[in-house]
Amino acid sequence: MKPVVVKIGGSALAGGALEDLPGILETGREVALVHGGGPRLTRTLDALGIPTKFHVGLRVTDTETLEVAEMVFAGSVNKALSRELGALGVPAAGISGTDGPTLLVEPVRDLGRVGEVTRVEPRLIEALWAGGFVPVVAPLGLGPEGAYNVNADAAAAALAVGLGAEHLFLLTDVDGLLKEGKAIPALTPEECEGYVEDGLAAGGMVPKLRAAAEAARGGVGARIMNGNRKGALAGAIAGEEVGTLISEGVVA
Ligand code: ADP
Ligand code: MG
Repeated sequence: MKPVVVKIGGSALAGGALEDLPGILETGREVALVHGGGPRLTRTLDALGIPTKFHVGLRVTDTETLEVAEMVFAGSVNKALSRELGALGVPAAGISGTDGPTLLVEPVRDLGRVGEVTRVEPRLIEALWAGGFVPVVAPLGLGPEGAYNVNADAAAAALAVGLGAEHLFLLTDVDGLLKEGKAIPALTPEECEGYVEDGLAAGGMVPKLRAAAEAARGGVGARIMNGNRKGALAGAIAGEEVGTLISEGVVA
């Protein structure tokens, strides 16, 4: 049984579909979690009087913003989520992508301290699994100048491919890629870019679709789905068609 990677959206933290995790772990499945935290970072930056800038859905990150991003992502968000998971009966261990190091990145041009994952080192995650823990990974990676901010959807996709996962589940606050109010059931990676170009996908859905396409190209089917419904994750692992599936080729 291959592992699964679950990305927990900023506004869809513990509760809902995460309540399925104890049951999933009981089946012997290895699970790695990745979280975001953008809205929380923006609030903290506001409180500190540091302006927030985005470029095509990605945060422009100067060194000062990076320092705060690490505090928020690898600190408060990661620890609060790990505690909430613990309360659900999930033995969570929060790490940052720079620990191990697990996520190795190259700087993305023009965005400052933003990185794109070029390599995944699975040893720390495997060590946690071997000890019976569920790794909860903050979206930062190690690059030439230290820590870099990594878009959480992209970090989850890279991790899923690097770990040879069976599925990537992108839990968010909508039912999938919505068109006329309904989730599109299935897409190829090429179709993802089409929906970015024609504007159907906007804001945070843009990096999410691109990350899902990356995972699919790397051989991991990605499902964008609502994280607020208990049973959704267990159902998706059991093969139910929920949300929007992005995968190469014909969908079974
Ligand atoms: P997360 O925290 O899960 O990464 P984001 O806010 O980054 O969530 O991305 C999800 C959001 O993308 C939705 O809440 C919605 O506002 C926005 N969005 C833009 N276009 C679409 C679309 N076509 N279908 C669904 N959501 C969309
Ligand atoms: Mg997002």
